[in-house]
Amino acid sequence: MRVVRSIEQLREALEYMRQGGHAPIGFVPTMGYLHEGHASLLRRAGEMSNTVVMSIFVNPLQFGPNEDYDSYPRDEERDLELAEREGVDIVFIPSVEEMYPQPTRTTVSVSELTTRLCGASRPGHFNGVTTVVNKLFNIVQPHYAFFGLKDAQQVAVLRRMVSDLNMNVEIVPCPIVREGDGLALSSRNVFLSPEERSQALVLSRSLREARQSIEEGKARTVAEVRELLTSVISSSPLAVIDYAEILTFPNLEGLENEVLLTDVDGEIIIALAVKFGRTRLIDNNVFIPKEVAAVV
Ligand code: AMP
Repeated sequence: MRVVRSIEQLREALEYMRQGGHAPIGFVPTMGYLHEGHASLLRRAGEMSNTVVMSIFVNPLQFGPNEDYDSYPRDEERDLELAEREGVDIVFIPSVEEMYPQPTRTTVSVSELTTRLCGASRPGHFNGVTTVVNKLFNIVQPHYAFFGLKDAQQVAVLRRMVSDLNMNVEIVPCPIVREGDGLALSSRNVFLSPEERSQALVLSRSLREARQSIEEGKARTVAEVRELLTSVISSSPLAVIDYAEILTFPNLEGLENEVLLTDVDGEIIIALAVKFGRTRLIDNNVFIPKEVAAVV
């Protein structure tokens, strides 16, 4: 496994791989502090590619002024051990100066899809994401790029960017990896106190219950599902709901309160963002209500 810190070194290493016929190149961008969720992306990348490149970069551009950029957890040594174990070929760890040697005057922004959910709560966040992912794609020029559905809005936004701008890369969405008790893995889980950690189970529980009540025909409209979500989450006294929404997926269009979910064609997303103290957690479930409701 090679660890490179400059764009020039990375380009040389990749050129060597391409010359040696080690394509396709699979790319997994991360912010480090790796866990099993990242490992699942690396494994998928290994199955589909001959060269796996992972980046570790906590991108200041996607953090708001009052967010956790400075305190975001970092542990390079442990990350490199995990990367080695998962068969990564090249790890790219640029500094902020390497990625942004001058103030950025060029940004990439996707409209509409970024106005809701995390885009509404974190103004500018997705512009930071699309800009840095664009830069990373230009540097790595991967055939495939792997992203977790834990950040389903990010997947929708990036797919749209790639399609709108005719970028020559395939975005491969990967399923959410959870702890045994249902909590979606996240680097930020480390910030939760034991009490917050146990109350944070309301995210996955409310998603499970919402889906189940759609299956059983108990919650039929958008309003009923939203009501169920908020009542389950509010049962946890430490939870402060940022949003609990039901939208179409992947276009992230709003649905009126009285819409029957079984009348919606295609996929929907039930998406949550909930704060526990200073830690903001997200989780979601994407499915086709028509299929789910037909199960019973
Ligand atoms: P991050 O380091 O948090 O920016 O995440 C890097 C990539 O890992 C993103 O594509 C995330 O969606 C993905 N990821 C993070 N947590 C999970 C998880 N629990 N399951 C699947 N993918 C995840």
